[in-house]
Amino acid sequence: MHQLTLAEIARGLADKKFSSEELTKTLLARIAQLDPQLNSFISLTEDLALQQAKAADARRANGESGALLGAPIAHKDLFCTQGIRTSCGSKMLDNFKAPYDATVVAKLAAAGAVTLGKTNMDEFAMGSANESSYYGAVKNPWNLEHVPGGSSGGSAAAVAARLLPAATATDTGGSIRQPAAFTNLTGLKPTYGRVSRWGMIAYASSLDQGGPLARTAEDCAILLQGMAGFDPQDSTSIDEPVPDYSAGLNGSLQGLRIGVPKEYFSAGLDPRIADLVMASVEELKKLGAVIKEISLPNMQHAIPAYYVIAPAEASSNLSRFDGVRFGYRCEAPKNLEDLYKRSRGEGFGAEVQRRIMVGAYALSAGYYDAYYLKAQKIRRLVKNDFMAAFNEVDIILGPTTPNPAWKLGAKSSDPVAAYLEDVYTITANLAGLPGLSMPAGFVDGLPVGVQLLAPYFQEGRLLNVAHQYQLNTDWHTRTPTGF
Ligand code: GLN
Repeated sequence: MHQLTLAEIARGLADKKFSSEELTKTLLARIAQLDPQLNSFISLTEDLALQQAKAADARRANGESGALLGAPIAHKDLFCTQGIRTSCGSKMLDNFKAPYDATVVAKLAAAGAVTLGKTNMDEFAMGSANESSYYGAVKNPWNLEHVPGGSSGGSAAAVAARLLPAATATDTGGSIRQPAAFTNLTGLKPTYGRVSRWGMIAYASSLDQGGPLARTAEDCAILLQGMAGFDPQDSTSIDEPVPDYSAGLNGSLQGLRIGVPKEYFSAGLDPRIADLVMASVEELKKLGAVIKEISLPNMQHAIPAYYVIAPAEASSNLSRFDGVRFGYRCEAPKNLEDLYKRSRGEGFGAEVQRRIMVGAYALSAGYYDAYYLKAQKIRRLVKNDFMAAFNEVDIILGPTTPNPAWKLGAKSSDPVAAYLEDVYTITANLAGLPGLSMPAGFVDGLPVGVQLLAPYFQEGRLLNVAHQYQLNTDWHTRTPTGF
């Protein structure tokens, strides 16, 4: 049963082949058996899961239907879950039980999804390897000595290991697409404003966006359907109708114009990944797509701009964790200043402290113009590059990452080496565009992802292209040995 996709589960439940309760019990047992190797969960919510599963079975017995009714999922541990620990992978929030559900959590619960637990993540979603979690590193099921990617590494490892069919995740600079690429999954970062950020603990508010991680584009369509939509409680949520993503999967790719940016194939890209990217292009050509070389001339400036803007916003967002209102408080503070300093010094890990310092510096008087303002100008140039490209092509295709998953610890002493791995993903966040990563082959037994980018609100186009590709390839069906 653990091999089933969300789409297959929906059919199995509708045909009464099994109940949601049976499926939930099977997956909880599998998690108990296999997750100790992976460390993909921070909290399990067995009681809630069984209660939701029974309720979903009862709703089906009453004639209700729906692709998510009774479907087991998990949430990245930065989505607030009422009465359940919401840690954000940090000691700072180890004792924090959210007083309300995030909009995404509430919407999925209303659709009948069953929450098995909360998944591990890089502390406050800062990272590309899932090694900065207070709860320990997550392992990649394809090779337990390698990282699963980050920051949504727990959601990715759990889905890749068939502990559950799909999970929520968030992407500020690649944290859905990069772990998807590293673990042979399909992951979608929606257009900024497509999915509500209400109750999603903020890292960099102008870049953060929630989305689905699953094995197939078909399943991403199902999960995104349950997550997307206008939310008056999020001031950056956009009131734009949500199309039927599943209904749009079967569009023909005849005449689809795919742009391949020449800047993507620079020295940093593993040539074996470049070959797999070109092989995916050939596959799409067979389906009728036409290929065009394009240029994104400002791409080289994106990493420095991102690593000013994201820490700047983080330094502001994380100022609320002060030892007073919620979260960790140091023992026996001598005075207010000591309380602030020690609560934050003891509650935040090294990478989070580094980002707060970089961000506070970039925003300080005298440096604001030189760093923050300049980075915002680059952000506009990056967006303009995309706007020009989308006048000529319908989607942009390239690698998701320059290299496959690295070994645990390989980049932990050199943060900049890890930042450079974000080169292909962060531009979509700077511009607010939707992006998807899909499985496209293997290098040394490790999965490789191809990234597709589309104009604003064209998530349906990304899912359509990925689904057609998946109907004609079998990379996404490969299972890691031992799982
Ligand atoms: N690796 C990037 C960072 O550390 C992106 C993380 C994310 O998307 N949450 O900022």
